[in-house]
Amino acid sequence: MSFSNYYDLECLSSDLRTMMEKANLLGREGFAARAFAHDRDASFPTQNYDDLRAHGFLKLVVPKEFGGYGFTVGEYATVAAEIGKYCGATALTFNMHTSAMLWSNFMFDMPDLTEEERTAFARMRERQFRRVVEEGAIYSQPISEGGQNWTSKPIQTNCRKVDGGYLINGFKKFASLAGNCDYYCIVCTEHFAGIEPRHEDTMIFAVPKDAPGLTVVGDWDPIGMRGTVSRDLILKDIFVTDEDLMMPRGVFSKTLPNWPHMMALLSPTYMGVSQAAYDYTVAYLRGEAEGKGIDRRIYPTKRIAVGRMYQKLMEMRSLWHRAMMEAKAYPSKAEVMRLYAAQYAVMEGVQEMTALAIRTCGGQSMLKSLPLERLYRDSRCGALMLPYTSEIMEDYLSVLTLYDMDEIDNVGTDTESARTSLWRGGHGSSKALR
Ligand SMILES: Cc1cc2nc3c(=O)[nH]c(=O)nc-3n(C[C@H](O)[C@H](O)[C@H](O)COP(=O)(O)OP(=O)(O)OC[C@H]3O[C@@H](n4cnc5c(N)ncnc54)[C@H](O)[C@@H]3O)c2cc1C
Repeated sequence: MSFSNYYDLECLSSDLRTMMEKANLLGREGFAARAFAHDRDASFPTQNYDDLRAHGFLKLVVPKEFGGYGFTVGEYATVAAEIGKYCGATALTFNMHTSAMLWSNFMFDMPDLTEEERTAFARMRERQFRRVVEEGAIYSQPISEGGQNWTSKPIQTNCRKVDGGYLINGFKKFASLAGNCDYYCIVCTEHFAGIEPRHEDTMIFAVPKDAPGLTVVGDWDPIGMRGTVSRDLILKDIFVTDEDLMMPRGVFSKTLPNWPHMMALLSPTYMGVSQAAYDYTVAYLRGEAEGKGIDRRIYPTKRIAVGRMYQKLMEMRSLWHRAMMEAKAYPSKAEVMRLYAAQYAVMEGVQEMTALAIRTCGGQSMLKSLPLERLYRDSRCGALMLPYTSEIMEDYLSVLTLYDMDEIDNVGTDTESARTSLWRGGHGSSKALR
């Protein structure tokens, strides 16, 4: 379905519409056809990235002064959801790259940076932007380490000061784009003798793909999002310098509490997968899906099911698009609650959409030769992605609806709290990320 059927085009800038049209063109002509093989082989969609690079997508959110398009978070999300209609793995990995650029773009504007930090940050981000604009570099963002919510405790991967720089040691789990990016954004905590690791010592370095000491390991044979090639990384005495820093110390860990929308950007992929499930169902019932030329609209049960799918999809998109478009630093409580609700609606809704699509299209739609089967498996991966898993969204919404802000710190949890990354507005204590 053309995006003109679900967006008011007058509300989208002409640059945005152009990139959405390009995304659909590349998707129809390339990504969709290649998705089957990348899913089957769990291989990385390199050709899709060549297309994205050639058409300017890698610099979508790089500020205009550095040669990018300067898209906002909402504009980026809108484009990414169009890519997700054709290949979920491409959209998901594209988010890893784009998020790295978003952090460099928007965290630079945070008013609480000191002048010294801002001067250093200006140099750091220019270096990354130039690599993307001039060399077409691709970034990944392996943060997860497996075993705990990475916002609850300081990141375990560590760096220690040595002559002329730092040595990084650690492990990263689920490193999408492993072996297929130019730079890994390695988030780690600087360790000091005799001091417990602290969130404020979080560092983020751009580590080149062939840095000595970096190894990609492990199998990658998951249920869905197979083309993301999210293998593990072992980091052993990797030498980096201040020049490799992407942000000043501690700034990364302020993203979640101050710019919460920037951590909800896996949702565009799943919005796209939902749309694809709906689009395929409509084409299938009309007898227009490839090789399936039977008109099945005659069955009232099918018509009712597709009506239900449309209703669900519109509910999801309305909430999600509004939440994305109002993304900003220091949002209001209403905006943050809308964001959490939108994240939940998309990550849960996508599973409902793909299941309904299979039920409605029937037995043949489960064949691996058709896209629904892949969309169904891909849709299972969204709700479990930290830091905003569906369970964590339920928890955050439960406390934000029932308690005043200054009561939240006293609401217990059974185990180590995942609430470190909960937005607190002006009510944050000095604990952890806040
Ligand atoms: C296809 C795919 C691609 C991915 N790509 C990337 C990537 O590029 N970069 C990246 O950083 N990560 C990536 N991830 C990882 C993802 O974001 C999650 O971190 C990961 O799926 C969580 O894995 P886990 O269930 O083993 O979590 P664990 O860390 O083992 O946690 C176990 C479970 O406990 C929950 N949990 C943990 N702590 C708490 C707590 N304090 N309170 C309540 N619940 C808690 C978690 O939500 C999770 O459900 C990817 C994952 C997938 C599936």
